[in-house]
Order: sequence, then structure tokens, then C-alpha cells
Amino acid sequence: MRLAERRALVTGGGRGIGRAVALRLAKAGVAVAVASRTRGEVDAVAEEVQALGGTSLPLVADVARPEDVEGMFRAARTALGGVDILVSAAGVATSAPLVRTSDEVWRSTLETNLSGAFYCLREALPEMVEAGWGRIVTIASIAGKTGHPYIAAYSASKHGVLGLTKCAALEVAEKGVTINAVCPGYVDTAMTDASVARIVERTGRAQGEVRRHLAELSPQKRLIEAEEVAALVLYLCGDEARGITGQALSVDGGTVV
Ligand code: NAP
Repeated sequence: MRLAERRALVTGGGRGIGRAVALRLAKAGVAVAVASRTRGEVDAVAEEVQALGGTSLPLVADVARPEDVEGMFRAARTALGGVDILVSAAGVATSAPLVRTSDEVWRSTLETNLSGAFYCLREALPEMVEAGWGRIVTIASIAGKTGHPYIAAYSASKHGVLGLTKCAALEVAEKGVTINAVCPGYVDTAMTDASVARIVERTGRAQGEVRRHLAELSPQKRLIEAEEVAALVLYLCGDEARGITGQALSVDGGTVV
């Protein structure tokens, strides 16, 4: 089967990195189911895919709820005939000093970013193993590789995603299924806009100054574009990438070397 005949499910596909991935896969001819909790956003992305001449299915699901994940896969398989590619981009960013991290923030961050990725992997794998072909890409973060103050819950969730990715990759290494994590630095999306707004609120610094500071954390002195992340995801989904598995590939302008 060529990439153009594959079927993908992209979580967090309503905006940001997930949206860019959905559009990139669609341009390569992949049929894409696009999922998030916000109906208006997944509908809009599905329409964009259709406008490109592609096939798309908008789905509303909360990845932190295993029953939603089960229903999302069922709907994608019914509409598209199967799911050969899973891109797990759904995620939330939280920040607080450790001692002020509430149970609710800790749980919701871990449940969405880590348990959500786990539920999706568990649901996706049997079909891919049986077919002898599959591609799974989890969108982690450089916060999954390094520590940073005030993001313990987020960083712990992303470190967990890397552990999950590596173990799962080894379990299916002989089955034609690859599982990799992509680890972006700060990407110019709504998530970073919200991080900037939180820092502005807490520190009183000007918005432009905070954005510049985040950009300058990268040796390239810039934010990453969602399309740059999507381009790597597309490559990992192709047959040429069949030897790449269990990896955590950074797209971060050299921040973590
Ligand atoms: P974004 O623009 O905020 O998009 C996040 C997407 O995830 C949205 O579609 C959101 O839709 C969805 N989502 C959140 N919680 C969900 C849940 N429980 N169930 C289903 N969907 C959910 O953020 P982004 O920048 O594209 O981030 C995408 C991924 O990249 C995340 O995993 C993030 O941690 C990671 N990442 C981002 C950056 C960055 O700087 N932006 C850097 C490194 C890694 P709803 O809220 O409508 O559900």
C-alpha cells in the first residue's frame, strides 16, 4: 500500500501541531480522522482537508477518557476502513511551582498527555500488528528530555510519553510497526500564546518581551512553526523511515543537544 492509500487518526487535530499534521498527511493523499474535544475546530480542519480534495472525518473525543478513545477508533475504522497511522498530538500545557501544583492540575496533565497517549496506543496497535504495517508518532516535547522549573507535571507527563514510546516500539519492532516521539521546542501555536499570557500575568512583563525570551531559549532565536513538526511526522509515516523506531527526535533549533 502506498502512503496515499493509508488512513490516519490525528488526536489534537483541531488546531496547532495536530492541524498542521492532518493537513500535511492529507496533502500526501492520506485519509485523516481529526479528533479533539472542540466540535467547531475539528469540523473546520475536516473542511480544510476536503477543500484540498482529501478525505477527512471530524471526531469529538477526550483522550483522557478510555471510552472516548475506544469510540473514536471505532468511528474512524467504520468511516475509513482502518487506521494505519496514529499521530497522538492531543496535549495540555500547565505550569506552577511544584508546591503549588494542585492535585487537579497534576492529574489532568498526566491524564491527557500520558494516559491519553497510552489509551490511543493500546487501541491502535492490534490492528497494525495484524496488518504487519503501522506508524505511530507521539508529539512529546523537549520537556520530556530535560528538566525546567515550574513545569513538573508537564515535564513528568512528557518524560512518561518517551518511556511509553520506547517500550511500545520494542514490543512491536518485528511487526512492521514503528513508534517514535517527536520533541518540539516552543512552537508558534495557541499553546505557546497561552504560556506567554500566563507568564505576563504572573510577572507583569510585556507580552513582546516574554515571546522574545521564549524564542531566545533556542540557539536559532526563533519559535518553531507547526509545519516544521508536521514535515518530520510525514517523513516518519513513510516507508523510507521503516528503520527509525523507538526514537525521540527533537525539532527545537538546537535547544537540546
Ligand atoms: P494547541 O494548539 O493547544 O493544540 C492542542 C490540541 O490538543 C487541540 O486540538 C486540543 O483541542 C487538543 N486536546 C487537548 N486536550 C485534549 C483532550 N483531553 N482530548 C482530546 N484533545 C485534546 O497545542 P499545540 O502546540 O498544537 O500542541 C500539540 C502537542 O504538542 C501537545 O501534546 C503539546 O504538549 C506538544 N508540544 C507543544 C509545544 C508548543 O510549544 N506549542 C512544544 C512541545 C510540545 P481541545 O482543547 O479542543 O480538546
